[in-house]
Amino acid sequence: MNQPEMIKIEATLLGTGTSQGVPVIACDCDVCQSSNPKDKRLRSSLLLKINDQNFVIDAGPDFRAQMLRENVISLRAIFLTHEHVDHIFGLDDIRSFNWTQKHPTDIYAEERVQEAIKRIFHYVFANFKYPGVPKMKLHLINGNKFKIDGIEFIPIRCFHHKLPVYGFRVGDLTYITDTNFIPSEELEKN
Ligand SMILES: [Zn+2]
Ligand SMILES: [Zn+2]
Repeated sequence: MNQPEMIKIEATLLGTGTSQGVPVIACDCDVCQSSNPKDKRLRSSLLLKINDQNFVIDAGPDFRAQMLRENVISLRAIFLTHEHVDHIFGLDDIRSFNWTQKHPTDIYAEERVQEAIKRIFHYVFANFKYPGVPKMKLHLINGNKFKIDGIEFIPIRCFHHKLPVYGFRVGDLTYITDTNFIPSEELEKN
């Protein structure tokens, strides 16, 4: 029997905040006014270092600050869980990676999320592109496993009330956000 290939995974939580982050603008509650560093939380995102390549799950409005904080200088791909603002509004900042890596950024998302990306970042997909626009290469995902450079990723269908979102599993690690229900067949997936 083939042994699964060993992969080295290092995960860094880039943000664990609410959709507005913590503190919330103009909020005078105890948490938002706290000086505890644990009460400073950026929008939710995960950095995965796998075999020396960087992958990011979600790129919200804090993406720029998160990339700078973790000194990420190259990005192999971005996975999107869903199209809410706090998960995608940082995508314009992939421009820096486009310049340094000299190719479009690979973005993995399901069809509904891709439609939102094309609507919100319409200038990226316009026939006439002004100089310096971000370059995105969209890859369609569904419930099936997919591979990037031989590394296997498994999308896990979850639900955010009525909105379907994807979690992602790689090796023994699964990242799921904005979820209040996981169908039992998805829990069994491997
Ligand atoms: Zn508050
Ligand atoms: Zn959401």
